[in-house]
Amino acid sequence: MHVLVAFGTRPEIIKLGPVCTALAQAGVDLDVFWSEQHVELAAGLLDFFGIRVTHNGSQILGELGLAGKFSLICGQVEKLLRAKHYDWIVVQGDTATAAAAATAGFMSRVPVAHVEAGLRTGDLQSPWPEEFNRRLIGRASTLHFTATLQGSENLLREGVPSDRIFMVGNTVIDALFYARANMSCDYTPIDPEVAALPADRKLVLATLHRRESIGAPLRNVLRALRTLGQDGDKLIVLPVHLNPQVRVEVLRYLEHAPNVRLLAPLQYPDFVYLLSRAWTVVTDSGGIQEEAPTFGLQILITRETTERPEVVSAGFGTLVGSNSKAIIEGVRRLTAGNEPQYRKAPNPFGSGDSSTRIAAHLTCVTSQTRPFLAA
Ligand code: UDP
Repeated sequence: MHVLVAFGTRPEIIKLGPVCTALAQAGVDLDVFWSEQHVELAAGLLDFFGIRVTHNGSQILGELGLAGKFSLICGQVEKLLRAKHYDWIVVQGDTATAAAAATAGFMSRVPVAHVEAGLRTGDLQSPWPEEFNRRLIGRASTLHFTATLQGSENLLREGVPSDRIFMVGNTVIDALFYARANMSCDYTPIDPEVAALPADRKLVLATLHRRESIGAPLRNVLRALRTLGQDGDKLIVLPVHLNPQVRVEVLRYLEHAPNVRLLAPLQYPDFVYLLSRAWTVVTDSGGIQEEAPTFGLQILITRETTERPEVVSAGFGTLVGSNSKAIIEGVRRLTAGNEPQYRKAPNPFGSGDSSTRIAAHLTCVTSQTRPFLAA
């Protein structure tokens, strides 16, 4: 059985790393296409997960807009699909790479399997353009691997037949388990600045990168973080995303702020290490909403909507938007007292076996589903 896995960005590599391992263990002939949509942010990740990329994308992606990236990647993937027979192309999430690769699969009549299917906010502008990408991938896909019941229900509502939907949990949890198994208890961070972070302060980890937050919403969040730094008992640690529009604002508000450490984007094991040390997280990231419950962390989500409502309903997350007051009050509440307020409840996004379940479904389902694949 021949499978092409396609990815481009940091979160896709993290979430597909364990899937690549599981497919290889299931005896699949695996090819891997990396569009290089993220290069710096992906540092160390391929080695960490032992992924062997067989086909690299173009180096000029950075100069292109979203539509340009989409068309370039779509063409590159189509070329691969024409050169060799594949039983499946596997994509993850909602990036330009995932949408372009899924489109290439659909157009080439190679069945598409979508990992982390069914996420929806219902608002095409938020997150932008990811909500559009997800819906496009949903239409192009033959199999939909959802993380939660909500994801499956979203797809059923859109008319996807139930026998094409498999609820398997989120592979990000598999990645976390893999990371923890490969990091010793006395882990030494790769980044010396992480290693040098003082241990006597309440660590508030923050990440901000969403395109739709840039402008006034991002500035409100940054003001809140600056105020929290003035409390003195906390240390705000923010690995700064490479998006220049985010970077310029972060530096403007926080470069000289007391008790705020701005770091370069962290290699994944360092980030996992900081999650294990954090008292709380302020984030607009999708993946971090899924990871935080594994650490018992209660987090503040700086978005108006989330396509992961389970993080809120399970008591791990609060949507605070860009409301500075809500962020300040929320962080102060979660860092009051002498111990972090861990929530002891199962992670609603999975239990670490999603990738093996995906590999099992893909390898068994092929022969059974041949008739409708050909339709
Ligand atoms: N992450 C990382 N280093 C960092 C920040 C995040 O390795 O400095 C990881 C984090 O563990 C998570 C993923 O990157 O798995 C989230 O990526 P991001 O927030 O960029 O994307 P999203 O999940 O919102 O699509």
